Amino acid sequence: MITVVGSINMDLVVGTERFPKQGETVLGNLYTTVSGGKGANQAVAAARLGEEVRMVGAVGSDAFGAQLLEGLEKERIHTDGVKHTNGASGIANILLSEGDNRIIVVPGANHELTESDIDAHKEVLQNSSMIILQLELPIAVVEYTLSLAKELGVPTVLNPAPAAGFTPAMKEAGFLTPNETEAQELFGENWELELERYPNRMVVTLGKNGARYFDGEKHVTVEGFPTKAVDTTGAGDTFNGALAAALAEGREFKEAVRFANAAASISVEKFGAQGGMPNRADVLKRMG
Ligand code: ATP
Repeated sequence: MITVVGSINMDLVVGTERFPKQGETVLGNLYTTVSGGKGANQAVAAARLGEEVRMVGAVGSDAFGAQLLEGLEKERIHTDGVKHTNGASGIANILLSEGDNRIIVVPGANHELTESDIDAHKEVLQNSSMIILQLELPIAVVEYTLSLAKELGVPTVLNPAPAAGFTPAMKEAGFLTPNETEAQELFGENWELELERYPNRMVVTLGKNGARYFDGEKHVTVEGFPTKAVDTTGAGDTFNGALAAALAEGREFKEAVRFANAAASISVEKFGAQGGMPNRADVLKRMG
């Protein structure tokens, strides 16, 4: 059982010909809602690969809350660890225009998760083969979950995104998975040297170039799988869900990174964060 302690958001995607200027109103040409949130996305990625997954998080009492839960359940994800608040669910307002995006995330219910909610799921956490976390929940809750997991002897994968929430205590996570920008924010320009402090436990994702880590003796680049990218949204989330699944199954670190690269390379071939997340057979086929 993999447990994801993380965010659940509804993505409100709006497209326009051009971004409105301050104070201006423009007509849009696209509006759609899709389930998202880094936590939920990573849970879906792991579940598609055949893992049993439990989500610990929070949704609101609005219509989005019910839709978000239904979406998770359709993916066979256990939702008994999801708290129901009286307010609004988390949303991401995604404005697409001019080949670019502008995003506002309003945490809503996600920020109502507390340390005592985590305590209430102690047994679930204890019985997990892996716990996955990101930084879209209250920072204190992430830190508390990491220390509880350590106490319980359960391995953790921390995807330090968004990087602004990262604190030194989080270096205790079992595995760390920043992308290149986050690695720079966390460790500065010399992030590659910093990898040496986390042998076989920190991997930096490099987009189409794959991922890099230090194996205790040398720096290793695990090449990405070349493909035609249609939409890279959710590539990182797919990488994390797949890496956690592979590590929970006991794969060697390098093999787990290769598995995650293969899964993520498939995810970029379709639109949407969750839309392109592959099943296990497709990943194994890509790995050859
Ligand atoms: P995103 O924010 O777009 O979800 P990210 O910035 O968190 O992604 P990236 O480093 O861009 O993370 O990508 C994660 C992984 O996805 C990479 O390590 C790689 O395995 C895979 N990947 C991303 N882009 C491509 C691509 N164009 N072709 C093949 N694989 C890709």
